[in-house]
Amino acid sequence: MIQSNALPYFLQAKDLSYSYHTLSGEIPALSNISFSLNSGDFLAIIGPSGCGKSTLLNIIAGLLEPDSGTLITENDNPLKIGYMLQHDHLLNWKTIEKNVALGPIIQKKYTKEIEDKLDSLLSKYGLYEFKYKKPSELSGGMRQRAALIRTLALDPDLLLLDEPFSALDYQTRLSVSADISKIIKENHKTAILVTHNLSEAISMANKIMVLSPRPATIKRNIPIHLTVEDSSPLGYRNAKEFNDYFNLLWEDLCNA
Ligand code: ADP
Ligand code: MG
Repeated sequence: MIQSNALPYFLQAKDLSYSYHTLSGEIPALSNISFSLNSGDFLAIIGPSGCGKSTLLNIIAGLLEPDSGTLITENDNPLKIGYMLQHDHLLNWKTIEKNVALGPIIQKKYTKEIEDKLDSLLSKYGLYEFKYKKPSELSGGMRQRAALIRTLALDPDLLLLDEPFSALDYQTRLSVSADISKIIKENHKTAILVTHNLSEAISMANKIMVLSPRPATIKRNIPIHLTVEDSSPLGYRNAKEFNDYFNLLWEDLCNA
């Protein structure tokens, strides 16, 4: 449940625990997860497959109710959540224009203002000329950018990104993660990214949370500070601290 309160944080999770109840018994997925996010933070969550990462995002999104623990937001503000998944889930029979406007159309909130905003996002991120094309006519990277723009249509406060680049080839993944990181920063969004890719986590996030195998507990929280002139995810990969963070995370995962 999301509780609201006057808080110095944008979002605070306290002692979240969750178990799935199945016919063959209880499957504990999360155990006492606590963390805080400030507005504008980019938190990356890494951890072994099946440890509970998606479960945690679903709790933050309000799709699952934790068995215990609370989520508290700043100044009584219920958060508007944008959720982006591994598959772009664009509707193949609709144009990119209609796909990115899907949220506001469904909620009957499709105003001229939103249409203009979506046009400007499409044009800023190289998709305007594909506005009347169908998703099947776009590359994988373009489709993910369109999916993010669709997620931004309702102006979410918090973006949840669950392995959004996993279906892309390596080269596309590098450039799309750079694009998406830029879009998120330029639009002043707060984001949580689940990824298996350590380099991606280090280059995109300012905080990384390492989870243990299921039931997930927090193994480590690492603030990321990279000193480099080119502050893009690709530039960050050249920072002198990059390898140290990589080795630290790698060790954590290997000794999970
Ligand atoms: P991750 O995203 O880290 O790979 P998930 O959060 O999807 O992991 O799942 C965590 C664990 O919870 C998994 O090991 C899985 O066995 C279990 N689980 C996930 N979804 C369900 C479900 N709907 N019913 C029962 N068990 C589930
Ligand atoms: Mg998952």
